[in-house]
Amino acid sequence: MTIDTTRPVTADDRQEDRTTVPDPDVARPVQPGRGTLRGAGLGEVTLDSGFWGDRQRTNAAATLQHCADWMERLGWVGNFDRVATGTTGPERPGWQFSDSEVYKLLEALAWEHGRSGDPAVEALFDRLVDRVLPAEDVDGYLNTCFGHPGRPDRYSDLASGHELYCAGHLLQAAVARLRTHGEDRFTRLGRRVADHVLREFGPEARAGICGHPEIEVALAEFARATGEDRYRAQAELFVERRGHGTLPTIDLLGPAYFQDEVPVRETEAWHGHAVRALYLAAGAVDVAVDGGDDDLLDALGRQWDRTVERRTYVTGGMGSRHQDEGFGDDWELPPDRAYCETCAGIASNMVSWRLYLATGRVEHVDLMERTSYNVLATSPDADGTAFFYANPLQQRVAGTEVLPDAVNARAEGGLRAPWFDVSCCPTNVARTLASWHAYAAAVDGGDTGVLLQYAAGDVRLALDAGTLLLRVDTRYPDDGVVRVTVVEAPTGARLRLRVPSWATGAELARSGDGTRDVAPGWAEVDGVRAGDVVVLRLPTTPRFSWPDPRVDAVRGTIAVERGPLVLCLESTDLPPGSSLDDVRVDVEAAPRPHADGATVRARLVTTAEPAGTRPPFGARPPVTRAGGAFDLPLVPYHRWAQRGPATMRVHLPVA
Ligand SMILES: [Zn+2]
Repeated sequence: MTIDTTRPVTADDRQEDRTTVPDPDVARPVQPGRGTLRGAGLGEVTLDSGFWGDRQRTNAAATLQHCADWMERLGWVGNFDRVATGTTGPERPGWQFSDSEVYKLLEALAWEHGRSGDPAVEALFDRLVDRVLPAEDVDGYLNTCFGHPGRPDRYSDLASGHELYCAGHLLQAAVARLRTHGEDRFTRLGRRVADHVLREFGPEARAGICGHPEIEVALAEFARATGEDRYRAQAELFVERRGHGTLPTIDLLGPAYFQDEVPVRETEAWHGHAVRALYLAAGAVDVAVDGGDDDLLDALGRQWDRTVERRTYVTGGMGSRHQDEGFGDDWELPPDRAYCETCAGIASNMVSWRLYLATGRVEHVDLMERTSYNVLATSPDADGTAFFYANPLQQRVAGTEVLPDAVNARAEGGLRAPWFDVSCCPTNVARTLASWHAYAAAVDGGDTGVLLQYAAGDVRLALDAGTLLLRVDTRYPDDGVVRVTVVEAPTGARLRLRVPSWATGAELARSGDGTRDVAPGWAEVDGVRAGDVVVLRLPTTPRFSWPDPRVDAVRGTIAVERGPLVLCLESTDLPPGSSLDDVRVDVEAAPRPHADGATVRARLVTTAEPAGTRPPFGARPPVTRAGGAFDLPLVPYHRWAQRGPATMRVHLPVA
């Protein structure tokens, strides 16, 4: 069906009225309909300069405009103009899902405006909405790839068309706008788009699902933001419809790729395309929580356990296969062919956050820390204008320089690129960084402030009995000392601090109380009062990290971690003329701190006589020659390739 009559933009659409004005202080990305936990609001945590504060500021100052500029230049924004002016045709810039990048940027701008209130951010948001709004059809359908002259019919390719996926990202942007600003022309557009989806895919309409999950998590949050349960019911319908093999096989990718082989509640471990699997899981958690479906919630918790136990890299990265951007089998975690798409890391955090809010389990927050420091923080460069798409743990061939002005054909690793042919990751990084601080703290039961991630700044949590105002001073992750000063606290307020899973030997001191050992998990401090100083000491001495022997690809190797950071070896730091392939680590000598990384005791083991050649296998073991031991520096993985092209390894063979 082609509808070429776009909905005329009315005076109402131009109006900036707000029927309700929300408090941006408590605006937050995920608001479950039940449970005792709530995440911090955008205004409840303010980060100083530091690991995450600096990244948020770079995101605001550079990344947001960078994304807008690229999408303008490539015609992805112009696609909306072509629909509005009736000038669509067979040729169209961008992939079928390019609209979603504009929406993810709108979401990032909404969170950023909620965080900073910067009028320039609001102005960019408005300029983009000016372009998007006129492309809406009379019945609330909005997509620039389908349903217009010269384009395929609406919903004619549910498997790969991404129409509901795009609508989902529009709704997530509308959720961010509703929570940070209140009702306006963009959120009203969101309602019309959501209502269109319900009319077209509701119980009485076509029983379709989208090849790329996203509409599920978006509708569930849209229901929360609008207070209208019918959107959640539609999300539930999409979740339940999945897993019955209704999507066709395309390009040799069968139902497992789309998570359409096994119903969500019967799935054992996440499989198929990683981002799809994780977006679906995030939506399914929302549906389970708000719908009171504890069986589904338990199933998702078991899927998280199994996937994290057997299908997750030391960086927190997910996705072992390039061919389908997908999960591998259990224990299939090759470091050199790791895909670990940046978006999969972000999606993993979306799932873990929801499971934490639903269950209070510390493991979910531990994984978020791992993934934030080693996947999310790895993608953007220091300037916030180039990104990794894939995040392999070993780079055999140094990347070639990426031209700052060129579109990259989906980087496999090596060097960050300013933009990609499929450019899902930069806008995903932008929306996540803009709201990252809202995942750093939480409130439990109205009387407990919870510190989840450590960064210097002010935490002002609204408890039932009053404000709990904390001043956090720390150089984390460079240093493991976290000093929390209670500036203001209502009577009976409690403080809960996360002791990361790696922090064996941590200590907690409360002014006047002396010091006690605290085990990984939660450390509770009761009855905090203004003037209390609580100091958490996390041991950030570098440590070896041994793989499970079932992970064949890295058997006989170690990784080195320091606090939440995974470290790596870059060829840049090797003695001249030597190769990364020859490095062997002496595990008898503990790694030692060095700058923000570590040094390990290593030798270069060269091959004097190979086992065989052509192919490189033979009847006898190779004859090797070991050089003298020396200290080899490792750097944080998130900084790799920032000093130019290099080969790199996270997992280093043991001597
Ligand atoms: Zn991506």
